[in-house]
Amino acid sequence: MAVYLCHEQPDLHEHEATVLDAEPERVVLDRSAFHPGGGGQVCDTGWIDHAGGTVAVTGVETVGGVVWHVLADDSLELAGPVVVRVDHERRSRVAQLHTDSHVLNALVYERFPGTLVTGAQVNDDGTGRMDFDLSEIDNDVLRGLDAGVNEVIRSGIEVRSVYVDAGDAGTVAGLVRSLSVAPPPTPDGRLRIIDIDGIDRQACGGTHLSNTGASRPFRITKVESKGKRNRRIRFSLD
Ligand SMILES: [Zn+2]
Repeated sequence: MAVYLCHEQPDLHEHEATVLDAEPERVVLDRSAFHPGGGGQVCDTGWIDHAGGTVAVTGVETVGGVVWHVLADDSLELAGPVVVRVDHERRSRVAQLHTDSHVLNALVYERFPGTLVTGAQVNDDGTGRMDFDLSEIDNDVLRGLDAGVNEVIRSGIEVRSVYVDAGDAGTVAGLVRSLSVAPPPTPDGRLRIIDIDGIDRQACGGTHLSNTGASRPFRITKVESKGKRNRRIRFSLD
């Protein structure tokens, strides 16, 4: 994966940019703080201020490595300089829940060593789910894990992103814990690691908080058995 601007500057929500390519309903920009989505996380949305006004950006599509910003107005063909604005509230909701899902994952992993994540999804409405390859576990045990997540939120633990050599990452147990949502390395062979100090360390390309204390309380809303081995944990921000 590429190193996104939102990885380098997670607090950048508004900046100038230049339109590189335009079609009805979509544009390519020379730089963008929008997260394009991926790994189970929805993309950012927001707005582009242009010479003639403001247009909403309803999504991001990556086609052949080119990142298109999808516009709410199909009559516009943008050109030249613009101002890009990320929907900060939506970004924050997703980052809270995404960070919380790492903590949940760590608690499951600690309690049931070696457990792999088989799927994950973080939505823009403050809900999400994680699927684990876990058999013969009482669903009530999983349901009670939100208390542990809330303890980590209350403790205000620092969250950092660091890069490690992708070749080394494979030798560190637990670092790449996901069967389906682990990001590929950057073009120069590095893997982005999200490190929640003393709690969790794993490869991820999404958007996160810089401190767990910035999350609203976390609630597990449902635990379902999906097939013989898979458990689906549904959760939301309280
Ligand atoms: Zn993540």
